[in-house]
Amino acid sequence: MSEEKIGRIVKVSGPLVVAENMTGAKMYDVVRVSDKHLVGEIIELVGDTASIQVYEETGGLGPGEPVYLVNMPLSVELGPGLLTSIYDGIQRPLDIIVDKTGDFITRGVTADPLPKDKKWDFVPKVEEGQKVTSGDIIGTVQETVIIEHRIPVPPGISGMVEKIESGEHTIEDIICVIKDDEGKEHKLKMYHRWPARTGRPYKKKYLPEMPLLTGQRPIDTFFPVGKGGTACVPGPFGSGKTVIQHQLAKWADADVIIYVGCGERGNEMTDVLNEFPELKDPKTGEPLMLRTVLIANTSNMPVAAREASVYTGITIAEYFRDMGYSVALMADSTSRWAEAMREISGRLEEMPGEEGYPAYLGRRIAEFYERAGWVENMGTETTTGALTVIGAVSPPGGDLADPVVQATLRVVRVFWSLEAELAYQRHYPAISWINSYSLYGKVFDDFYRKNYPEFPANRDKAMAILQTEAELSEIVKLVGAEALDPSDRLTLEAARSIREDYLQQDAFHEVDTYCSAKKQDMMLKAILEFEEEARKALERGAPFDKIESHPIREEIARVKYVEEKEALKRIDSIIERLPKAMTELVPEEVGTST
Ligand code: ADP
Repeated sequence: MSEEKIGRIVKVSGPLVVAENMTGAKMYDVVRVSDKHLVGEIIELVGDTASIQVYEETGGLGPGEPVYLVNMPLSVELGPGLLTSIYDGIQRPLDIIVDKTGDFITRGVTADPLPKDKKWDFVPKVEEGQKVTSGDIIGTVQETVIIEHRIPVPPGISGMVEKIESGEHTIEDIICVIKDDEGKEHKLKMYHRWPARTGRPYKKKYLPEMPLLTGQRPIDTFFPVGKGGTACVPGPFGSGKTVIQHQLAKWADADVIIYVGCGERGNEMTDVLNEFPELKDPKTGEPLMLRTVLIANTSNMPVAAREASVYTGITIAEYFRDMGYSVALMADSTSRWAEAMREISGRLEEMPGEEGYPAYLGRRIAEFYERAGWVENMGTETTTGALTVIGAVSPPGGDLADPVVQATLRVVRVFWSLEAELAYQRHYPAISWINSYSLYGKVFDDFYRKNYPEFPANRDKAMAILQTEAELSEIVKLVGAEALDPSDRLTLEAARSIREDYLQQDAFHEVDTYCSAKKQDMMLKAILEFEEEARKALERGAPFDKIESHPIREEIARVKYVEEKEALKRIDSIIERLPKAMTELVPEEVGTST
């Protein structure tokens, strides 16, 4: 990248540097600051004076030092080599940088985001003489054993393929030449750059119609997120946020995972960096990293890099979406991102909004989540891709009135409320069934009606039972459950079964860690059939304690730990035996049933 010296530093304030004499610079251009060549980005421009957020430590910098213009916006390199990478907020590969400089990253270091010397076996998908347009896939490389990397004609280019090369190439080799209508030749490599703050183009965006199945019962059943949808999960410490994220990364119905970590404490991110590479992809048995990109910011990295990391992450995610994949991006935690915005805004002396956050906090958060979607991709052929965005928020003291939580809730459609109290009771995943919501709920009923016809009604019934339990809980606290009439006690028992046998799911149990939609459907059916048959028996005089302690309940409770095929068999048998088992408890019918 060519650098041109233009400006001069006049002021340094933490991550913010003010430089004058910046004629020719544009908003959001990347600059190199001082002779240490620290990476920065212009975030305010008044006349020829620029405010620059610097992505590296600015200690020791002072007025008079030079600023170099790079003449391009903050960009992400997109091409083979992304998967398995661990980047910092401005797409510098952490492992290479740490190898170069040790754990305390020296300033001004550069490293290529994508390996420039590695050879990939490029398989063309277009022929010479063929007309192509941006988004068309010109060829593929097997990036990892799990994911085929589809190389697109970059946005803004179309024309006729003059030349296409197959075989072993590095990403710097020209593998395709396209001549546009004006006769201009575009020499394509296997990678291109895209400005991080600009969403990548698509033809059309649809409302999600398919749930992103996660194999996690509380999520899929009650609070599903759509493929291409948005969700928010607040994470008080110890509530199981990390476990949920790992579960989603492993089991969600997504091809590619982008994980953006903005750590609170240095060691939190270290956990992610140690744990993620250890995770296995359950579908293939291969390391999960083969379909993952990690973007990591520890707290000892400068605040501005955190601000950039979510944009770097979502740009990479959109790029895989453009290949037709289902991509899930997890950002943890977006509160750290917002705090970075607040710090920079404070130094720019902007008018503060709520809690000192900039007035544009809500807009930035909305713009970020708007990059999620189920879209029709660019290109001649009709293909779709999905980008689901799941953002964790960590409000101080778990306070949901926090401006970041509020701004997020205004734009996302799903809210998984992780609650410390549930975690304390060891109810995992600690997702509150009372405070969480999914605005998609009924949208996926078509999908369910087609595949699991009874599921939507059963789901609604189960939720109604849980709500009744919540309403009764005050009375129970005052007078105890024994004081309630048997019909209400049965409702409480059904609620307990839904909570303990269904909603609780052990991420560390080899079978229970994942539960298919089919198994969810059948498990819920068993619990509700019990409730129904028990209620009939109760109304005909069966004693409550016999119903409550019936051994069939233990059978229902155990199926979650039983491998799917066998579990489905057992549930069929339970459902078949239930009417008789309950009828037998009715006094006048004892001995009359066969
Ligand atoms: P956080 O990241 O919110 O601080 P963690 O995700 O590390 O919390 O969870 C804390 C502990 O809770 C875990 O070590 C684990 O023992 C338990 N836990 C959380 N979720 C589950 C789950 N789904 N199944 C079993 N145990 C869980």
